[in-house]
Amino acid sequence: MFNDRVVFLDLETTGGSPTFDRIIEIGLVEIDRGRWVGEWSTLINPHRHIPQGVQTLTGITDEMVESAPAFDEVSGALAQRLDGKVLAAHNARFDYGFLRSEFRRAGLSYSAPVLCTVKLARRLFPEHGRHNLDALIVRHAIFCINRHRALGDAQVLWELAQIWRRELDDGSVNAACAELLRQPTIPAGLPQDAFDRLPEVPGVYILYGANDLALYVGRSANIRSRVLAHFAGDPPARMDMHMAREVQRVDWSETAGELGAYLQQSQLLKELAPVYNRQSRRADELCAWRWRPEQAEAPPELVDASELESDALRNVYGLFRSRASACEALRALASTHGLCLVMLGLEPRSANGACSAYPLDCCRGACTGAESAIRHAMRVVQALSELRIKPWPYRGRVGLRETDPHTERSELHVVDEWCYLGTGRTEAEVHELKESTRKAPFDLDTYKMLRRLFKLLPRSCEIVALDARESRLFDRS
Ligand SMILES: [Zn+2]
Repeated sequence: MFNDRVVFLDLETTGGSPTFDRIIEIGLVEIDRGRWVGEWSTLINPHRHIPQGVQTLTGITDEMVESAPAFDEVSGALAQRLDGKVLAAHNARFDYGFLRSEFRRAGLSYSAPVLCTVKLARRLFPEHGRHNLDALIVRHAIFCINRHRALGDAQVLWELAQIWRRELDDGSVNAACAELLRQPTIPAGLPQDAFDRLPEVPGVYILYGANDLALYVGRSANIRSRVLAHFAGDPPARMDMHMAREVQRVDWSETAGELGAYLQQSQLLKELAPVYNRQSRRADELCAWRWRPEQAEAPPELVDASELESDALRNVYGLFRSRASACEALRALASTHGLCLVMLGLEPRSANGACSAYPLDCCRGACTGAESAIRHAMRVVQALSELRIKPWPYRGRVGLRETDPHTERSELHVVDEWCYLGTGRTEAEVHELKESTRKAPFDLDTYKMLRRLFKLLPRSCEIVALDARESRLFDRS
């Protein structure tokens, strides 16, 4: 902060989205190694109506910007002022995002080290809860003539920097800045601005290597900070080091919350089988016993969990991490219930027909005819029920509506028979999911997660009936 060239900057805009909204005023204070060297401010004509709320807050009206230059007219001069300097702003991601979008539309590219004064305040004064500009102005008794105007607010930031320098000292302020500015090393295969576009919202991200090979699928409440964490570790974790060498592209998908991120991640893990996700391989080995009482003579059949579909769960028992543990569980049932090992398919039929458990009195003789096949089958049903997957508690499909409390953006995750069918963001998408005949593969982690979720529904979620047969009203109690 005090041994570098810094621009304290503030923008006024028509709204909150760098994509859809425009800058209407720029104000900045230029500092060279802790000395004030100049300030600059201009109104910008956004070529659109300024919303009434913004006009009231800032005092900037449509008439005032009518004769002002458009952004591309000042972009060259602004780029020169910003060139080679640290950009300091309050909630710097906001200002940086707007500047980059406007420069891009003007045909220029802009990137700079970014210092967020909110994060800096939080780091220097962790004992305080609030660090918005109004709170800081009051706390440090700063006099501001032009609050909510770009230059007025930029001047407040420079004033704050000087107060912090006096209250603390150069060393600790500089150290905090250095830490905040410490950039994660951008992997060689990624473009320089790869991290700038990442949003700070919940969702999933995919790291791709050469030939679009999926390396890793992750999820987070904050996509940007989680992706950066892969490449900012000091020292880096072994797996992250390998991925840093291979990664060539980062892709992501925003969700309304963490449930959506979880469901999308588990779907992507199955679709892409990314190289560095350990769970995805474990899922391949997941298996269960399938046995149909109407074909009682046939022994239970061991099936891969990936072959299971939502409608077939009725005849499926247990879920096991490996074939060995599946056989072990069935053997244990046979021994407690006196079932026949041959009938269960656990050993081949011998010359005299009896299984190895029969002479030990551990089989009641379904193999020798001492017990009827029907009677044995009835006892198999009873024994297997201990392994049964919990029945789906609803009639047909239900939706889990998840809403982001900050943006009110909401999504509907459609689930049926413990399986995730997809997420709808629009009426049409929800309708399609409601009507589709597509079956979803069963996933043990999703099953466990849904069971937990139904027991204790998070505040951001509600259950919505999608099937006409489901007449219950869901309330939060
Ligand atoms: Zn037997």
